[in-house]
Amino acid sequence: MPYFAGRWDSGRSTDTFDVIDPVTERRLVTLTEAGPAEVDAAVSFARSALDDGEWGRTDGAARGRMLNRLADLIEEATELFATLESLDIGKPGFEPRAIDLPQVIQTFRYFAGWADKVEGRSIPTPSYMGRPTHSYTVREPVGVVAAITPWNSPTMIGAWKIAPALAVGCAVILKPPEDAPLTSLLLASLVEEAGFPAGAFSVLPGRGRGTGQALIDHPGVDKISFTGSPETGYKVAVAAAKGFRRTTLELGGKSPQIVYADADLEQAAQGVGIGIFANQGEVCAAGSRILVARPVYEEFVERLVGHALNVKLGDPFDEGTTMGALINEGQVTRVSRYIDLGLKEGASLLVGGRRPEGKGYFVEPTLFGDASNSMTIARQEIFGPVGTIIPFDSEQQAVAIANDSDYALAATLWTSDVNRAHGVARQVKAGAVAINGWAPLNPRLPWGGFKLSGLGRELGWSGIEANTEEKTVTAVLSYPLPE
Ligand code: NDP
Repeated sequence: MPYFAGRWDSGRSTDTFDVIDPVTERRLVTLTEAGPAEVDAAVSFARSALDDGEWGRTDGAARGRMLNRLADLIEEATELFATLESLDIGKPGFEPRAIDLPQVIQTFRYFAGWADKVEGRSIPTPSYMGRPTHSYTVREPVGVVAAITPWNSPTMIGAWKIAPALAVGCAVILKPPEDAPLTSLLLASLVEEAGFPAGAFSVLPGRGRGTGQALIDHPGVDKISFTGSPETGYKVAVAAAKGFRRTTLELGGKSPQIVYADADLEQAAQGVGIGIFANQGEVCAAGSRILVARPVYEEFVERLVGHALNVKLGDPFDEGTTMGALINEGQVTRVSRYIDLGLKEGASLLVGGRRPEGKGYFVEPTLFGDASNSMTIARQEIFGPVGTIIPFDSEQQAVAIANDSDYALAATLWTSDVNRAHGVARQVKAGAVAINGWAPLNPRLPWGGFKLSGLGRELGWSGIEANTEEKTVTAVLSYPLPE
């Protein structure tokens, strides 16, 4: 059921949708979808909470306390969040406990710290008609923010959008993914307890083409913060163009992991394996193009295949499971189609490639070797546990292959040469480069990409900038200038 105006309300909507367990393929729950009337009511209420309500009058110190309280409540409910995340998405139980939830809690705490520190600048300006001037800037909340999240890590990606927006005093309306909405609803149940007044935060469950489209089309929304596919990102950009509303678009990638001959090959194989198989490969920053220096190609590939063979595919709630199910049947079909394409285009299937018999949306961890960067499996985002290994002959060739992509989100370098590491980091086109470790996420670091990977940055100070408008104030003073 939708949560807005400080209460749970199905409004006039009679439409429902089912949430399916990707492991058993059974229905977990049926939810009421927020229709256009509920979207309109949520936006209007959020607007008045900002313009005339308690939320608009809440100062930074109070917002910081609420965000810290919310982080505490999430921490207390970690087990419930983690269980729902595994149920909803099919990811193995240790992942939400080790990655998603700690990230969520850190993100709320980090932005709680910013809430009363969003300062302006004082800028020296020349005199105006012989009178001195005093100029300064202030940062004001951008307004009503629509946050639209994908199904792969909805709690963590939701926190990246919600925490900075609430810290600066925006009102947030979250549209969670239809396949994995449960933790977003749990979050809504904690927001009031954390002290946020009605209208500061709303959750509108529903389908993208219904609830999502109504939200991005609503003229009362000042900013859309979106994570998902480039196709939907384009629709968001088009909708936002009406009124030139703000957007942050995080649209996935085809990220290279470059393994140089001087790398610690065991450490690299483990890290590269995590980079492609974590969260079943359903990660925007998945290191899905694995570029390996030819002199160590055979040895590295053997180690990486060993890592893939050690992956334990299974029920997320079984002890020892290290990879769970994909999100839905459509995603299995999509990933299987890419595996067929890899075979057809001549890459060598080194391991995996099949859907195990029985219930559940499982696909084996899969690696293709001796691939080229022109193959479809090296160019398109698969969003599944499929790595494409490409040999290279020189440092510059590795950089050229890495940059020959429609995407530019992340890159990982594996080398023991510090000069090479920083030199290549400068040349690689990506929003984030990691050296000797895959995707070391941190709310202090800006996150986002360019080209098909999107527009703008979330997190860090960039997350504050992305949710504020900078205003300049210039006073012309009636104070005589010294002769
Ligand atoms: P989408 O882009 O379709 O979905 C992302 C979010 O946008 C969901 O909440 C979705 O709702 C919503 N949405 C869909 N259509 C609209 C619309 N017209 N207006 C407003 N909101 C809309 O991604 P998918 O979930 O379908 O995944 C498809 C592919 O996208 C993946 O295979 C992957 O390549 C990429 N992807 C990238 C992610 C990343 O982290 N960068 C994350 C997820 C996907 P609903 O869930 O109801 O469809």
